[in-house]
Order: sequence, then C-alpha cells, then structure tokens
Amino acid sequence: MELPGTLNEAVTQLKRLPGIGERSAIRLALSILSWDQENIKNLSSSLSGLLDIKNCISCNALCDNEVCSLCNDPNRIDKPIMCVVESMSDLLAIENSGEFAGSYFVLSGVLNPLKGIGPDEIGVPNLCKAAINRKISNIVLAVNPSIEGDATCSYLNEVLPDGIIVDRIGFGVPMGGSLEYLDSMTISQALKNRKTL
Ligand SMILES: [Zn+2]
Repeated sequence: MELPGTLNEAVTQLKRLPGIGERSAIRLALSILSWDQENIKNLSSSLSGLLDIKNCISCNALCDNEVCSLCNDPNRIDKPIMCVVESMSDLLAIENSGEFAGSYFVLSGVLNPLKGIGPDEIGVPNLCKAAINRKISNIVLAVNPSIEGDATCSYLNEVLPDGIIVDRIGFGVPMGGSLEYLDSMTISQALKNRKTL
C-alpha cells in the first residue's frame, strides 16, 4: 500500500541519513509515531536547533558560541601540540580515545582538485594562522588514509609554517577506513604510533 503523505515525507527525510534505507526509515518513522506528543515535539525542536550551530572561529569545530569549549580551555589551547582532523566526527572519535591532550583544527574535508576543492575550501589558511597564533611546535595530522587524504597530508607538510614538526597518525587505521567508526583502542594505538613526515 501507499504510505500516508505525511509519513512518506518523514521517511524521505530519514532516508538521507547514512546507513538508513527505505525499510529502516519506515521502522524509525513508525517508532517515532508511537511516542507521546511531547517527545515528538522535543525531537522536532532539537533538530531545528541544529540550524543555529556555529563553527568555532579558532578551530572550526562545531559549537554553540563563537569559540568552542576546547579552545576556551587553557589546559588544551596553551599546549604546543595540535591535531588536525577532516571532520567534527573524527575530532569526537579522537577525544573519546582520551589519548590526545592538545588543541584541534577541523578541516572542511580534504583536497580534491577534480571536484574543485582546494586549500582555501578546506581552510588551510586558517589552519596556518591557528598554528602561529597558538605557538604550535608539533602538528599531528589525523587525516583518514585515502588518495585525497594522503595528498592533503603531503600538501600540509609543505605549507605549514617552518619549524613545526608534522606527524601523521600511524598504523592501526585501515586504508579506506574512517576514524569515526574505529574503537578507542585502535585510535589510541594510531596516535601512539604516529611518525614524522
Ligand atoms: Zn575551537
């Protein structure tokens, strides 16, 4: 049978989520429909609230205000080591490992010349500024291993300010893998086994 229009619209939107197909989307929508009205309203308003989210002016991480909680923490921002990731979900994965105590910079993805994504698009100028402003002496590139990720690391190693030791996280991260899906132990090992480029 055809789904009622309103239910069908919810299913269409849920299907945009990664890993959610038609059947999963219908199951989720029906599950939400079984909630009481108050909870459905709360879900709806929390999703609308995402429209107000900002990017930290210092590290580009997602935050509620101008500057994120990590950049406001002197124990983190004053350390001379900075970790560069390609997405907020990768930042969260590294934070959950508990292995890194410095500050971060979140790139807007990786270089992809074929799609017209160059250094400006992913925020390289702001990364260089942050490295200088924070007096960073060691940068850890926690960029996912892929052709574009490897090219991005090589490029960053060339353009980051002189005098900064540039490391890349080591083995433990499978080729073609994504940091956000790895367990904390694997991320912890990858950070320990990083090597200078
Ligand atoms: Zn920040």
